[in-house]
Amino acid sequence: MKKSDYGLYEWAIVGGGIHGTYLAYKLREAGVQSYVIIDPNSKLMSNWNRNTRNCGQTHLRSPDQHNLGENGESLLGYAISGRRLHEIQNLSGFERPTLGLFNDHCRDTIYRNKLEEAVLDATVKSIKPYQEGGHKRRPFVKIEVEDPYEGGCLFASNVILAMGQIGGTRWPSWAKSHTDSGFHHVFEKDFRIEDFYRLDKKIYVVGGGITAAQLAIKLAELRQSKFGRYPVIMISRNPLRVQELDARALWTRLDYIEHALWTRDINFREGLVRKERNEGTIPEHIHAALMERSRSHALELRVDEVTRFRIRDDGQKIMNFKIGEKEEEDFVVVLATGFNGPNGNKILKQLSRDFNLPLSGLGYPILDDDLEWIGDASYGRFYVSGELSSLTLGPLAGNIRGAQMSAQLIVDR
Ligand SMILES: Cc1cc2nc3c(=O)[nH]c(=O)nc-3n(C[C@H](O)[C@H](O)[C@H](O)COP(=O)(O)OP(=O)(O)OC[C@H]3O[C@@H](n4cnc5c(N)ncnc54)[C@H](O)[C@@H]3O)c2cc1C
Repeated sequence: MKKSDYGLYEWAIVGGGIHGTYLAYKLREAGVQSYVIIDPNSKLMSNWNRNTRNCGQTHLRSPDQHNLGENGESLLGYAISGRRLHEIQNLSGFERPTLGLFNDHCRDTIYRNKLEEAVLDATVKSIKPYQEGGHKRRPFVKIEVEDPYEGGCLFASNVILAMGQIGGTRWPSWAKSHTDSGFHHVFEKDFRIEDFYRLDKKIYVVGGGITAAQLAIKLAELRQSKFGRYPVIMISRNPLRVQELDARALWTRLDYIEHALWTRDINFREGLVRKERNEGTIPEHIHAALMERSRSHALELRVDEVTRFRIRDDGQKIMNFKIGEKEEEDFVVVLATGFNGPNGNKILKQLSRDFNLPLSGLGYPILDDDLEWIGDASYGRFYVSGELSSLTLGPLAGNIRGAQMSAQLIVDR
């Protein structure tokens, strides 16, 4: 989209990930013609594509009903018509699509609905109240963006914030000051899994959840023939825990969410959502694959915790573990330790201040039951989708099912 297209829109979606893409599709399906998706990446779903590829994901954790098509049956229909039914597999009790099938189906939705034509490749810096004479009956906000050229602004009556995990990657304290000493995070933008296939160093993968497990399996597969025994060491703080989904299946149902969350106060919701999210867990089929690689010495599974890292005067790298100290010749550490929460995020703070929009103690927008962030109503309306809507949609808010539920609440009202 060109700069000349900056203008006034009925809907502006900030973020073109899984959530922004799906909401744009659903708005379009509902007949909305004036909408824009603002994202620094001109290709939709860039974060999803990078992160899933970098951690070696082969199948989705979620079942095939969670997809970006017209309804829960769409991905199955797409697989049947494309003779790709074998790409939906029963893995530890759930019908899970391959990443390739899921992605092709998403691309199909994007292509058929020309969604990428609505992308403005820019980063939203701030959103301000806007009052100019003559627009009293149709209030709107001013969205200030920075694009690759210089920056500018556009206007919208309704804004959907679908910015994903805005707190950045989570680095344990012992790793924070060592980004230049062979420390990497699998969700950093410059991480490329290919750089590690032939790397002639020992690799520690730190984390105990599905990302760490998939990453360790992928690296082990690709490195074992060249490096022999234990080319990868996965360090998990706790013994591995098996859970099939990111939260109990009840959290995929709006009637359950209404009953379990909407009647409770915000402090209670924060605690419940955190407790109900199966963080640091892996499905049974991935657990089995890990065990098999461990038995064949393709990777070492270690339950331990890095407590400190330092570089001695002679250049030797020293890692302290809870169970002992290790002096290592040469190694790299890949963190699979997730994301930080939104607390302190600049845009949320600015919106909260300028539009009098409430934030919870942990920095989450406090929304009404339609996912509207209600503050000063004399300007445009704000809606929130994705992980940031967790206090209203529950522990699966950031997932694909969360996008489906958001569309039900925001678009189908
Ligand atoms: C490796 C991995 C595997 C996963 N597997 C599954 C799964 O199998 N099933 C499932 O249901 N869920 C899964 N999830 C969870 C979830 O579905 C994904 O994290 C998904 O990408 C979330 O979508 P999103 O749109 O909220 O965020 P993102 O995909 O991160 O998109 C957010 C977008 O917002 C943009 N943005 C942010 N700030 C601004 C700004 N200021 N201005 C403009 N644009 C901005 C970003 O550039 C980005 O493109 C997985 C997550 C990960 C990390």
